[in-house]
Amino acid sequence: MSFPFRHVLVTGGAGFIGSHLVERLLRDGCRVEVLDDLSTGSAGNLETVESHEGFRLTVASVLDEQAVAVAVDRADAVFHLAAAVGVRLIVENPVRTIETNVTGTETVLRHAGKKGKPVLVASTSEVYGKQNNVPFGEEDDVVLGASRRPRWAYACSKLMDEFLALAHFRENKLPVIVARLFNTVGPRQTGTYGMVIPRFVSQALRGEPLTVYGDGSQTRTFCHVADAVEALAGLMSTADAYGRVFNVGGDGEVSILEVARQVIAAAQSSSTIEFVPFEKAYNEEFEDMQRRVPCLRKIENAIGYRPRHDLRKVIEDVIAWERDRA
Ligand code: UDP
Repeated sequence: MSFPFRHVLVTGGAGFIGSHLVERLLRDGCRVEVLDDLSTGSAGNLETVESHEGFRLTVASVLDEQAVAVAVDRADAVFHLAAAVGVRLIVENPVRTIETNVTGTETVLRHAGKKGKPVLVASTSEVYGKQNNVPFGEEDDVVLGASRRPRWAYACSKLMDEFLALAHFRENKLPVIVARLFNTVGPRQTGTYGMVIPRFVSQALRGEPLTVYGDGSQTRTFCHVADAVEALAGLMSTADAYGRVFNVGGDGEVSILEVARQVIAAAQSSSTIEFVPFEKAYNEEFEDMQRRVPCLRKIENAIGYRPRHDLRKVIEDVIAWERDRA
């Protein structure tokens, strides 16, 4: 699908998902500006595009009013991906998580609102919280834990972003889309912030034990980043998507123990599996989600989206990237 906007701003474009989206948009002939403070993202993620004539990197935070105002002004449409990300970071830096996610989104929406620029806000499957009624549908209730547990600050901050985006749509007719991303994985994702597949892959390649938290019976549904960015671009191209919330994910629910086994097999590794209690892994009274599966009917009806890559391909691509990097 060709993309209808010529000049696009991607906040958080130096991050893992952002950098893949930037490549995708440049391939389509867009001019792309990235606004990123390089906190969890890195300039290295943009190596493949840095010399492209349609590309510009502005190193600044989404909390920087002036930088956001200038970048939003230059753009025809905004993908707002900048956020504090990863369960480990959230547990360790709750103040930064809340400020970046709430104030950053508020700033981007306010400036986009002045000129009526379309904004896609990247949200997360975390907002479904600990409900176990899979698959999760966009209209389902969310079930969050007590506020003394930092983990829920992330879901809550992202929910606030969703409410604010939808409020701009209702009150100011600002074209907004909310995309709830489910466990997106692929090359360039780092295990530093806790993400399971890059962690398992680097452990397997080093021959170290794979650290399965809890008993590994918890499940997730992983989505290849190439599918995720196709979905984001498709949503932004579809006027019918404005003012609505969409799940973006893969299919095939899998237990974390099974993921560990598949990574060991695919990497032909001699690694063993080590079970680590949650309290030890996260240093707090931690609540993990037992199951997480997206219902993809809504996005399929809206833009014909279907994930094209399975877990085997995700693992293969992450292994190839890690080997390449080493
Ligand atoms: N996990 C694990 N070992 C690790 C990192 C994560 O067993 O080294 C588990 C984690 O407890 C969760 C799942 O893998 O059940 C996915 O974790 P991730 O942080 O990638 O994403 P989440 O779904 O928690 O946002």
